[in-house]
Amino acid sequence: MDQRVIVIGGGPAGMTAAYAAASCGASAVLFEKNEKLGKKLFITGKGRCNLTNDCDRDTFLQNVVHHAPFMYSSIARFDHKDLMAFISEHGCKLKVERGHRVFPVSDKSSDVIKAFERALDQCGVEVHLNTPVQSIVVENQKAVGVKLENQRVIRGDKIIVATGGLSYRSTGSDGWGLKIAGQLGHNIVPCRPSLVGLKTKEKWPQKVQGIALKNVEVTLARRKKKIRTERGEMLLTHFGVSGPLILTDSAYMDRPAEEYRLILDFKPALSEQQLDQRIQREIRANENKQIVHALASLLPKKLIPVLLDLAGVDKIKKANQMTKAERQRIIEALKHQVLTVTDFCDINTAIVTSGGVNVRDINPKTMASKKIEHLYFAGEVLDVDALTGGFNIQIAATTGFAAGMRS
Ligand code: FAD
Repeated sequence: MDQRVIVIGGGPAGMTAAYAAASCGASAVLFEKNEKLGKKLFITGKGRCNLTNDCDRDTFLQNVVHHAPFMYSSIARFDHKDLMAFISEHGCKLKVERGHRVFPVSDKSSDVIKAFERALDQCGVEVHLNTPVQSIVVENQKAVGVKLENQRVIRGDKIIVATGGLSYRSTGSDGWGLKIAGQLGHNIVPCRPSLVGLKTKEKWPQKVQGIALKNVEVTLARRKKKIRTERGEMLLTHFGVSGPLILTDSAYMDRPAEEYRLILDFKPALSEQQLDQRIQREIRANENKQIVHALASLLPKKLIPVLLDLAGVDKIKKANQMTKAERQRIIEALKHQVLTVTDFCDINTAIVTSGGVNVRDINPKTMASKKIEHLYFAGEVLDVDALTGGFNIQIAATTGFAAGMRS
């Protein structure tokens, strides 16, 4: 008799798992509580879906922030090339953009979802929408089926939980899988938002909210220890800071957020000495202007008065009256601007959840639970997360594929 595989969750992890199971000859049933598949996938990559990253395996693993070694064997069986082939074979052409990011040629995430749907249809997966699973039926430490919210019990030989993490709850990922996994004896690593904006104690970013800073350098420090430094883009917001550099920093903040500081260097290409010379040049060229106007070319216009306030320099004073000490304070404000993190933004606004089912309770080759027989986990419900660039969908698809394969 056919093996019956039940998949809970119709995100990239669940859809890949169901496809893999059906391709191996199993009869696969997928339960999704939403009215459609891939609701989160639809909003990925700002509606364009950064499906994966066309990079080598080492680069992929370097971009997995938590538990990269857990991915070794599954990524060897289903990597970005396999995912790209799978999606394009099912009718969605792909392109590679800056940073090896892979998108559909149409720039529409809906085309990626359609490709998944076509694949499920072609291999005969039975998809049940609007069907929330209430619980997993376990007998003698073996998962034997699921109980739907309408109290019907569906029996299966293998149960795959692919219900996502905790972010963007309106897409369906409300932590159900984490709760069930915990109840069934799995260790759950406490969840926190990752790839998310950061709130700061300092209120000055509020005054200049909306300004995007390019080519700045941000150092993330915990207490006195520098964790990482990177150059790139960031955004000043009403709550503090966001943008690519900050989202990446948030992924590395495993301790309480308030233990971290961000040190901003607005002019990383210039040494302090070079910056001093540059300021002196601007002053000479604009000696009769107010300082705020004389330094206009240094930073986005709105930021100059804020920075002068931070440096304690009178903005309306004439440029030629600026003292050496004031110049030094401006340099300090430009090169070592410290922001004190008070918190992450809400997990509901995070791109990904850090934390989840402890990977020590999971077989990395098959995604099988070590606690309950015939039970499997895949995707964001696991304590594996990565940086932006298409790596999180790849993790979902890779772990989904491993879970769906006949083991
Ligand atoms: P999900 O996609 O969350 O799917 C889980 C599914 O399970 C949901 O459909 C849910 O309704 C269903 N479910 C939950 N509980 C039940 C239940 N009890 N019964 C039945 N069904 C249930 N990653 C990238 O790699 N590239 C990007 O461009 C990208 N952009 C993103 C943009 C945003 C705004 C967000 C929020 C995330 C983005 N991500 C991106 C991350 C990526 O979307 C997720 O990591 C990925 O979707 C996780 O896949 P999953 O299948 O594990 O979970």
